[in-house]
Amino acid sequence: MNSSDYYKIEGGKLVRTHRSCPKCGPSYFLADHYDRWSCGKCGYAVFKRKGQTKAKATRRSPRKRSKA
Ligand SMILES: [Zn+2]
Repeated sequence: MNSSDYYKIEGGKLVRTHRSCPKCGPSYFLADHYDRWSCGKCGYAVFKRKGQTKAKATRRSPRKRSKA
């Protein structure tokens, strides 16, 4: 992997595209997985936020208990 892949220049600004490992230091980047970032050195992993947690809308049919 080319280390330049971890950075990109945006408007003359250096932008990090990858996260670095807080344990191993800024020179160690976390591998991008579909659901997490993980460090290949120490195994540190950061789980990505799931875009939209589908709130389970359990529709309860209103049962009207008619009091007899
Ligand atoms: Zn690490």
